[in-house]
Amino acid sequence: MPELPEVEHARGYLARAIEGKKITATKVHDARIAKGVTKLAGRQVLSVERKGKWLKMPLDDGRAIFGHLGMTGHWTRRAAGDPPVRFERARLDFGAVSMRYLDARLFGRIVVAKTLPAWDELGPDPLADGIDVQRLHDRLSRTKRTVKETLMDQSVLAGVGNIQAIEALWHARILPRRPSKKVTLQEARAIAKGITWSIKRSLAAQTEEELTYVEEGGDNPFKIYGRAKEPCPRCKTTLVRSIIGGRGTVHCPGCQR
Ligand SMILES: [Zn+2]
Repeated sequence: MPELPEVEHARGYLARAIEGKKITATKVHDARIAKGVTKLAGRQVLSVERKGKWLKMPLDDGRAIFGHLGMTGHWTRRAAGDPPVRFERARLDFGAVSMRYLDARLFGRIVVAKTLPAWDELGPDPLADGIDVQRLHDRLSRTKRTVKETLMDQSVLAGVGNIQAIEALWHARILPRRPSKKVTLQEARAIAKGITWSIKRSLAAQTEEELTYVEEGGDNPFKIYGRAKEPCPRCKTTLVRSIIGGRGTVHCPGCQR
């Protein structure tokens, strides 16, 4: 499932293919996920930006194409004459280059608008903005939720999802179920370090041009995500799976407190 590192990968992929180019044609195969994508011919894509898990492609008319990959979204480059790809939901053509948006499970979105509340409400991006430890600690202390749920709140830090939260909390040696309020400033610093470590590790693991998600049969590059019942890579205690806030979680009962 795409989180910050995967969306950053998609951003670079899109930027290399279409930044500065003019849209020559569009086609929407599934209107449930693409809004306002018609009538874009002639518009130029000025840049490809990312905040958290959202992509933003500003156009030369003041609007932008906003994109979210949902759970299974992919952008893939084809030639304009190529037939539709499996699960293709929309396409943007730039002369001979055709960018196809594929989404098996339809949780993704493409929206053309001047502004988007979902983008405006995002908190700082850990990669682009860095992590302000004091602010993170303040946000953690103001909620009754578990630390893992708070980290996944996109207004706290944009782009941290289930996988990055699991990996970062393991790195910081903190139990995902710990009440946010009980995290000290020093522990918040360890969590911030864990998030940065985890994101950079995931970015470095993406060596293919196109994304493959672990859930779709890609390699598992993670330390503990998807590894319940395996030994902890740090202390060898058996990793445990549980559910927190409706999401599957993995932690080490040996070295996370
Ligand atoms: Zn351990």
